[in-house]
Parts: sequence; C-alpha cells; structure tokens
Amino acid sequence: MTEVKPYQVEGVTGGWEVVIGMEVHAQVLSQAKLFSGAATAFGAEPNSQVSLVDAAMPGMLPVINEYCVKQAVRTGLGLDATINHYSVFDRKNYFYPDLPAGYQISQYTQPIVGKGKIVLDLPDGSSRTIGITRLHLEQDAGKSVHDQHPDHSYVDLNRSGIALMEIVSEPDLRSPEEAGLYLRKLRTILRYIGSCDGNMDEGSMRADVNVSVRRVGAKFGTRCEIKNVNSIRYVQQAVAYEARRQVDLIENGGKVVQETRLFDASKGVTREMRSKEDAHDYRYFPDPDLLPLELDPHWVEDLKSTLPELPDAKKARYVADLGLSPYDASVLVAEKEAAAYYEAVAKGRDAKFAANWVMGDLFGLLNKAGLDITKTPVGPDQLGSLIDLIKNGTISGRIAKEVFEEMFASGEDPAAIVEAKGLKQVTDTGAIERVIDEVVAGNADKVAEYRSGKEKLFGFFVGQVMKASQGKANPALVNEILKKKLTA
Ligand code: ADP
Ligand code: MG
Repeated sequence: MTEVKPYQVEGVTGGWEVVIGMEVHAQVLSQAKLFSGAATAFGAEPNSQVSLVDAAMPGMLPVINEYCVKQAVRTGLGLDATINHYSVFDRKNYFYPDLPAGYQISQYTQPIVGKGKIVLDLPDGSSRTIGITRLHLEQDAGKSVHDQHPDHSYVDLNRSGIALMEIVSEPDLRSPEEAGLYLRKLRTILRYIGSCDGNMDEGSMRADVNVSVRRVGAKFGTRCEIKNVNSIRYVQQAVAYEARRQVDLIENGGKVVQETRLFDASKGVTREMRSKEDAHDYRYFPDPDLLPLELDPHWVEDLKSTLPELPDAKKARYVADLGLSPYDASVLVAEKEAAAYYEAVAKGRDAKFAANWVMGDLFGLLNKAGLDITKTPVGPDQLGSLIDLIKNGTISGRIAKEVFEEMFASGEDPAAIVEAKGLKQVTDTGAIERVIDEVVAGNADKVAEYRSGKEKLFGFFVGQVMKASQGKANPALVNEILKKKLTA
C-alpha cells in the first residue's frame, strides 16, 4: 500500500496543518415541528405552515413532539454515542426579524446526546475515527426574503420551529477531503436511520465549518467559523481557501481573529460576516415553559434493538462474509438503496464478480445518465441474469458489456437481447477451428515470425480470431485451439 502523505498547506516558512471541527444542522424527518403540530413539508406556500406557537403569539405554550425526541435518540445511537436520560431545553436569546420569539429553544449544558464517533472510510481502504462531541435538539428560525420587492423584505415562518439536530464534531478533521468524507458518512448514517433526508440543496443539512491552522504538533490555533455551507464541494473549497488565507495572514505577521465568515461560492472565497459572539452573549437559561426531558432507559433500549443494520456493520459483513475489499464494501454501503440492490444481485452468486458489475458498469452508466440507483432502468434481477449468462458460458464478458448497455437503454431482459441479436458465445470447436484456419492462412508472415520465437504475437492472433467471430468465440477454446494450430 502506498503511503499517504498528510495534508499540509505549504507556506514560505514551511508546512502547516489544518484543523477542522464541524457543526452540522440536520433537519429532523418529522411531519410536525419540535413544539407544535404545524406541517414541515419543503416548498410550501410561504407562511402556510405556521402555528400560533411558531409565530410566538403571547401566551402560547410549546409541547414537545415525542417523535422528534425519538429521532434524536436513534441518531445518537447510530453515532455510537451516550444517550443522556436527563436533558434540558434552554432559551438562546438574540434578535432577528425571522425569530419572532426573540429566542430559539435549544439545549446548552445538558444536551440529549453526548460523546460518540463517526468512522471515515478512506480511499486507501483504511479508516479514521472522528469524535462526536454532542448532539442537541433545537428549533429552526424563519427566513427573511429579500428578493421579492425592491425596498421591502418579507419574513416566511414556515421553517420557524422545525426540529433540528445540531451535531458537533471534535476538531479531529485534518484536510478538505476528510471534511467531505465526514459529511458524506454522517449523511449516510442519517439516511440509514431515517432521521434526516440529508438533502443539502433543500437546506435539510447545513454545515458550520470551523477552521484553524497550526504547525504540526503545536497547540491549536485560533479558529474561524464558516457559517451555513450547503454543499460538500463548497465545504471542501471553503476549508482549502480558509486554511490558505490563515497561513498567509500569519506568515505576514498578522493574527487570526475568531470570527464568523461566509463562503462566497461564486468567487470561491470566505468573507468576514461578524466578529464571533460568545455563548454569554446569548444569555442562555432553562426555558421555564418546558420541563427537563427525562427518558425511560427501557424505551432507549427498545430503540437501540430496532435500529436497522448501519453502514459500518454492513461493510464489516461484506468484508467478512462476502470477501469484498474494505474500500469496495464502503462504496457499496454508502447508500442503503445501492446496498440493497447489490445484495439482491450477489445473492447466490459470485459476490466479488457481482460487486464489480454493480460498482463498475452499473454505477458508471447511472453516473453518465445522471440517475441515482432508485431510478435504475436495470433491476437487480436483470443484472443477476446477465451475470448468470456470463458464468454459464452463454456469452463472453466482452459481449456482456454490450448487452448491458442495451439493457440500460431499453430496460429489456438480457436473455431476450442475446437471442434477438444472436450474441450467444460460440463453443462449437469446429466453428472456432474454421475461423482460426482462416486467420492462420491469411497471416502467413506473422505465423512464421511466431514460429521462429516471437511468442508475443499470440495476442495478435487471439485478437484477430475474436474480431472475425464478432467477439462471440469462447476465449478459452480460442486459446487452446490457436496454440495447437500455431505450434503444429
Ligand atoms: P461554539 O459553540 O462557540 O461554536 P465550540 O467550542 O462548541 O464553539 O466548538 C464548535 C466547533 O469548533 C466544534 O466542532 C469544535 O470541534 C470546533 N473547534 C474548536 N476549536 C477548534 C480549533 N482550534 N480549530 C478548528 N476547529 C475547532
Ligand atoms: Mg458554533
């Protein structure tokens, strides 16, 4: 295995290490909000999903949504984290036009989920464990809309009160790639659990990215926080830009100041937004309208025992039981629909062979067509039948590629395509012999060279025979008969 060099930013005074910690806001998959019964559907008419609680009318009282609590606990279990049986909701006070209450209900010193971890699957097959600091439940705010009127702004409260899980990582990430892998893995886990749809383009997963730089082994530098980055690619770009900016700043005698920055995707740069407020600026205090949240340990145990098989366990099973490489296994489990597809193809068949077809040919064509696995025109049974046709010698591997493209384009079964196009492999030795005789007769000069010791020419003859048979001759028989004829 090749040694992977740690990521560093080269400065004029030497290399710098990047330190990254992530705060991800993940919208809880739930029909109703965290403290009200209002709906949460994406894309609804502005202000059509707002209850009196979400609009913060005087005298309204929040009532906790048990389902959202359940989703947070299931997520905590999926992150291998401590579930706190006692947690407290606090008010986080600040003014903003889209926050009618003047505070957000959140959790501060006593969150519902404590320390956990996420395992990253690196491309070289190794893995790295990133610490999770905590997960807490909080309300989302509304949205100010500035593009509807030349000199007015509007407020849409549909998001107000929607349940979010804020998932905070330890500052364990060390490169833009790791930051990307972290978000991908977190999203995979959330989707397996079904606690967040992970759709970053709809805002249901947003990342605040904390970045600092240091000399390798030195203590952590001052960090900047890049707010609300909404795609994995942007996160990676933002980290790379920000690390470079901080290194240049320090090497030019400047100092990094702790602040909140924004990523401008059109220019690929981060920009100062506001100097960082401290926790005490929010005047956190326990919300007097809500009792502390106490969980029954049996209820938590029940949730644990009914979690689905999660990506790490699935990956381990693919490696141990199916003999896949760790990296291939991690690619196949990244989406639970793809994993289910793969398992259906592999069932009762050569598991590695099936993995190559799913990861290589199927993913390749899906990618090219811009489709995800749920929209695949080739079902797992069809791909399975194609594999069977290869394995039982009906068609060669090369012809199978052609058949597969046809299946992908038409949705037809492989057997029908093979039949209609006459693609069956020729295993009739007499027929193969005739083709070989023609090739040998037509290339007398090459035959002579071969016989006088230029054995490399064997491949040429195989190629000619396959060509003449339109790829249908059984390669093993071609090899065998050719050898006999050429040495004769
Ligand atoms: P706050 O709540 O004020 O944003 P936290 O201490 O909770 O601050 O940290 C928030 C995030 O910043 C965490 O993900 C943490 O890992 C990360 N972080 C903390 N220190 C650093 C640092 N020196 N460099 C990069 N990230 C950091
Ligand atoms: Mg923060």
